[in-house]
Amino acid sequence: MKIVSPNEEPAGSGRGGATFTGDVFTYVTMEYTDGAAVTNVCFTPGARTHWHSHENGQMLLVLAGRGWIQSQGETAHVIHAGDTVWVPPNESHWHGATKISYMTHKAISLGNTKWGDEVSESDYGKGVD
Ligand code: MN
Repeated sequence: MKIVSPNEEPAGSGRGGATFTGDVFTYVTMEYTDGAAVTNVCFTPGARTHWHSHENGQMLLVLAGRGWIQSQGETAHVIHAGDTVWVPPNESHWHGATKISYMTHKAISLGNTKWGDEVSESDYGKGVD
């Protein structure tokens, strides 16, 4: 058994980087344990992940705000507070805030995450607000 208290300070934040575009604040709820990691991620308007996939899938619970999520080859979907998203294993996708809203989600990530290219402005702009 493992009991984890939430971090009070973000584990990562700031603009840009190898995995995110824009200003994103990441709060680790549970470090990678037995193949699962739990994090709360707050995306500022315009911020989003790079394209990536999760070895054994990922569940996203949208806690606040409004965002977009898109799998490769599909159109982007709007997600709101209260939504739950299951991303199947190894499906390439990105998620983030819309251009005019914050979005905070809890991410339960299973297995290793493979990171790819950033989401271009033109791909990001195809979301419907
Ligand atoms: Mn993901």
